[in-house]
Amino acid sequence: MKQIILGTILLLNISLTLNAQEEDKMMKAFFDEALTDQTAFENLRYLCKNCNGRITGSSQAAAAVEFTFQVMNNMNLDKVYKQPVQVPYWIRGEEETASIQSCKFGFKAVPVSALGMSVGTGEDGLSAKVIEVHNFAELEKLGRENIEGKIVFFNRAMDPTMLNTFGAYGGAADQRTEGAARAGAFGAAGVVARSLTTSQDNFPHTGVMRYNDTISKIPAVAISTNGANLLSKWLKNDSELNFFFRTTSYELPEVTSYNVIGEIKGSEFPDQIITVGGHLDSWEPGEGAHDDGAGCMQSIEVLRLFQKMGIQPKRTIRAVMFMDEEVAQRGGDEYARQAGLKNENHYFALEADRGALMPKGFGISAPDERLEKILALKKYFEPYGITYFKKGGGGVDIGPLKQFQTPLSSYIPEMQRYFDFHHSGNDTFEQVNFREFQMGSAAIASFIYLIDKHDL
Ligand SMILES: [Zn+2]
Repeated sequence: MKQIILGTILLLNISLTLNAQEEDKMMKAFFDEALTDQTAFENLRYLCKNCNGRITGSSQAAAAVEFTFQVMNNMNLDKVYKQPVQVPYWIRGEEETASIQSCKFGFKAVPVSALGMSVGTGEDGLSAKVIEVHNFAELEKLGRENIEGKIVFFNRAMDPTMLNTFGAYGGAADQRTEGAARAGAFGAAGVVARSLTTSQDNFPHTGVMRYNDTISKIPAVAISTNGANLLSKWLKNDSELNFFFRTTSYELPEVTSYNVIGEIKGSEFPDQIITVGGHLDSWEPGEGAHDDGAGCMQSIEVLRLFQKMGIQPKRTIRAVMFMDEEVAQRGGDEYARQAGLKNENHYFALEADRGALMPKGFGISAPDERLEKILALKKYFEPYGITYFKKGGGGVDIGPLKQFQTPLSSYIPEMQRYFDFHHSGNDTFEQVNFREFQMGSAAIASFIYLIDKHDL
């Protein structure tokens, strides 16, 4: 009996070792193929150069929908389709202008960018005295008597000591998203918000903002970090200076756009769906290369890598190009709503929306037992220097799948440089490195392959 047990253990060990060897071989094949094939990178180039400015509702966004639909349609996938979704349509208008006007120091033009969904200043622009604050508590302390008729300048920097730059971003983002509503409540004439970036540069970094329906809407812009530093410096010695800015942004009625979806049907459990996605829309000052053309193209590349390796997944693998992550997150909401209506079984979901720098690993949210097994996949990735496997994952677009108890995961690349690009004119195709981008594609494909194969 003892011998039989020993023999079984031995066999089990051998099969586990063989299995591990097989997985290592498959992963190497994924990386080899990704690092030698230009398809995904060239598709990213096309998206960046021909569908730049693809903010939700725009003709460029419609072109991006058509392009990614055609790309997947030409891949011999089992199913490719567009899922209609109603989206807001905000128009930036003419190029923004701004300047600091000081009797003491002179006149200095500074780079600004209208915040998404902001009203414009009107043809003549807005000129007013400036009051600098760093948070809403300061704003409230100043009160209406110090704020009314002025431009409120929110100048809180992203915390440079935080290694998690996404955490630093989250810690400073309220001045951009809510600043105009908060300042408007005290009668401010407009808002200038410091760009959310860790770099000192001349790019204004835009992003969405929201009004409060009960308070009158005032125009809001992001100012480059160099511009913000200069404005703050001059204000210290000339509190009477004026700030001028002109924006012509406005909103049109909602339009129909689409999530674009391609899938490989599962062989054993076709009804179980694994979603891998990024968002197709992007802010207009840049090309949406890191945010998030890269995540879209990496998601499509996962399907191509499976095909190229001749892997038939057990479950259905879907690449999803979500629409409208940046403004109102309608694509993610509609995807989950349709999943609910069709009673779909969402087995696992991954979002790639943190740029295309060197892969570090994955953040995962799943029940403890499943989480432990998924975290144990780290061993396969260590030879590639991909070692971040930690609890806590998800994303704006896949977030609504949480209602189905679907485990959610974030692809996590290196993050120290990501906010150099984020939402700015600096987010161009040239800033994406082929090898880093494709290491990411291979890492995501390997991760999904292992989750499917081992029923994790
Ligand atoms: Zn994004």
